Formats: sequence, C-alpha cells, structure tokens
Amino acid sequence: MALLRSAIASIMTLFHPEDCLILVVDDVSKNLQVIVEILQTKDYEATVASSGQQALERVKAAKPDLILLDLMMPEMNGLEVCEKLKADPEFAEIPIIFLTASTEQEHILQAFEKGAVDYVTKPFHAPELLARVRTHLELKYAREQLKKLLHEQKEFIQELERLATIDPLTQVFNRRHLFALAEQELNRSQRYSSIFSVLILDIDHFKQINDIYGHAVGDRVLTSMAQTVLNCLRTVDFFGRFGGEEFVAFLPERDIDVAITVAERIRENLEKTAILVQEQQIFITVSIGVASYNLADETVDVIIQRADKALYHAKNQGRNRVVAAPNF
Ligand code: GH3
Ligand code: MG
Ligand code: MG
Repeated sequence: MALLRSAIASIMTLFHPEDCLILVVDDVSKNLQVIVEILQTKDYEATVASSGQQALERVKAAKPDLILLDLMMPEMNGLEVCEKLKADPEFAEIPIIFLTASTEQEHILQAFEKGAVDYVTKPFHAPELLARVRTHLELKYAREQLKKLLHEQKEFIQELERLATIDPLTQVFNRRHLFALAEQELNRSQRYSSIFSVLILDIDHFKQINDIYGHAVGDRVLTSMAQTVLNCLRTVDFFGRFGGEEFVAFLPERDIDVAITVAERIRENLEKTAILVQEQQIFITVSIGVASYNLADETVDVIIQRADKALYHAKNQGRNRVVAAPNF
C-alpha cells in the first residue's frame, strides 16, 4: 500500500493543469464567459458549447479532459447529454460536473445516476468551482496513469515468465520448465491411466560442427534444428532444450509405437533439411531415444533415464537412428 501511495504521489507530480482541456456547456453566454475566465486564472484550456447538440459535437472533436455541463438547457438538456456520453465507451471516462441553479436540487440525484461525478451551483463561487475541477482532473489523471502502470506491470510479469521458461538461444522451453510440464503430465497419466511418451534427441557429432564452422554457427544450427523438430510436433506436445545439443519432447496420449513413428519422422526431416548459415549448407543428423510411461513409473526421471539408455544404444549402433526402450 505504501508503495502504491508513493507511486501515485510521483505520478501526480507530472500533472499539469495547463495540459487539461475543459469543455464548458451552457445556453447562457454570460455563464460561459464567467466560467472560462475563472478557469483561465489557473491556466486551464477551455472550449465552449451553447447547446446539448453542440456539446456532443465538441466532445467528439476536442476530446476534453473534463466537462462542466449546464443541467437545464432548451432542446437537449444536460442529463441527456450526460447519458449519451456515458453510453459511448470512447467518452464515458470523461468526468462530468453539472452546473445547476439552487432550485434544481431535485435533479442532482438524477445527474449522479446518469454518471456525473459532481455538481456546482450557480452563482459560481470561483474557489469552489476550481477546487472541484482540480479534484476530478487529478482523479482522472491518476486513474489513467494507474491503468497504464498496471498494463506495464502485466507485460513485465509476462516477460519475466517467458524468461523463466524459455531457452534464450533456441526459444523453446528450458529444462526447468520441461520438467515442470512433464510432472504435470505424469500426474495426469497416473490419475487417468493415460499414456505419454518421451523422446530424447541428441545431435550427432555436434562438436565437429563447432570445430569446423565455429561456435556461432553451431548456435544457429541448434536454433534451426529446434524449429524443424517443433514443426514435426502437435501443439499439445511439448518440446524443449535439455542442455547443450540435447533436446526432449513429451508426447501426451502417444504410445511407444506412435512415438517411434514421430521420432522417425523427426529424424528424416532433420537429415534432409539443409541449414543455411553464411551461404553454406550444413546437414546434421540426430539420434533419438524413445520411452513411454508405464504404471510402475513414479517419477519423470525414471522415464527419461529409460529414453536416455535407448539414446545411448542409438549412438552405439551408429547414430542417425531411433531406438525405443523396452517398456518395463
Ligand atoms: P555425439 O554424436 O556422441 O553426441 O557427439 P557430439 O559431438 O554431439 O557430443 P559431445 O557431447 O562430445 O559434444 C557436444 C558439443 O556440443 C560440445 C559442446 O561444445 C557443444 N555445445 C553445447 N552447447 C552448445 C551451445 O549452446 N552452442 C554451441 N555452438 N555448441 C554447444
Ligand atoms: Mg550430447
Ligand atoms: Mg551429440
């Protein structure tokens, strides 16, 4: 709360009356003149309208920060003007202060019901008029600034969340987030007796890419590879970087046979996709270990370990291949 108060206080130091445009509406030109003169003593910008219809047109054209609105006017009275403005989202936030004769007290309740924020009675008492105008301009300004602040805060939190879950190089999920999602998937599978599969992908001889082309090109290869894999997956699958040149995909509702087919498709796609870096075509292959959840699995780790063992076999059998772990 203290933080909010100091935020509001610093916001208010940016509030300048001379930046505020006030629309004054009254069918009696003498009243318009008096009010404009009062407002000018505090450097407010003022614009005028002498009928309800004119007021609506002025609001649209000038978009004032506040309206001083005469209650009683021929043809369209102040209440109707107020009602029309409050019904329009573009203008509904403009504070309206009614100008009323003391004999019109019974209308004031109606004015508040229609959305007025305040009223001043004729004949005008300059300090009172200025005090009310200032209060409502400040409130409007504070509301707008707070809205902006909240919006920025929301964007900031979203960015923090993104940074906490995304691998900065490849823009796919990072290891921590992959594990968090995998835990959820495991819980779901345990509860509903459903299935999911895991693929571990490791680029073959990636060290050579770095050695031949340099680390920066290696980075581009990792990014491109991640995008190719993503294109082979469904939106319900989740895929991320496990570390280095090792990636993991979780495939909800996919048994081992389907997972092998998906892995094979990924392997083929990567093998035939030329990665263009600095006018050079680079080709890579991957080895993939596949494992599926079974009822005895109590942690994500044990499933990943099975997939990792299968990956180890794929490497040993000559790389560029898919090997599935026996499901026990
Ligand atoms: P294998 O077929 O057995 O997997 O051989 P490999 O060369 O791919 O495996 P190894 O584990 O020997 O080497 C992995 C290399 O990946 C070494 C490391 O420098 C490189 N690497 C890890 N992270 C990054 C990275 O973020 N960018 C780049 N460019 N290289 C990375
Ligand atoms: Mg490796
Ligand atoms: Mg490797």
